[in-house]
Amino acid sequence: MKYVHESTPSQHWTDESYRLQQEGRIRTAAARRRTGWRITAAGPCPRCSGPFTFREEAEQSVVARLDDEVADAEGVASAAALGDGDGPPSTVTVTCDAPGIYDGAPGGVAGCGACFTLYVL
Ligand SMILES: [Zn+2]
Repeated sequence: MKYVHESTPSQHWTDESYRLQQEGRIRTAAARRRTGWRITAAGPCPRCSGPFTFREEAEQSVVARLDDEVADAEGVASAAALGDGDGPPSTVTVTCDAPGIYDGAPGGVAGCGACFTLYVL
C-alpha cells in the first residue's frame, strides 16, 4: 500500500473508524491520571487495516485533586469515583502507526499515514 500522509483528520477515514468502533473492532479507553486523562485506542486502521495503537496523555485544563482513597496504586481512579463533570476529551486524533511496509513512507515512520478522529467511548 502507498503511504499517504494526512496532517488533519480525514472525514472519510473518520466515518470508517466510527463504523469499526460501532462493530467493537476499534476500542478506546480513558483512564483518569493525576494530571488529566490517559487515552488509549487500538484496532484495525480504517485505511490499511493494519493494527494501530494510540496512547496520549490529555492534560486537564483545570487539574482536579485526587484523594489517595480514590486513586489506586498507579494513580488511576474511575471517573465515577471522582464524581464531577471534568470528563475526558470526547474525541482524539489518531495517525496510523500500524507496522508494515508502505510505499514512499519516510524513514523511521510507521503506518500508512491515515489520520482520523476517534470518539472516546
Ligand atoms: Zn493505516
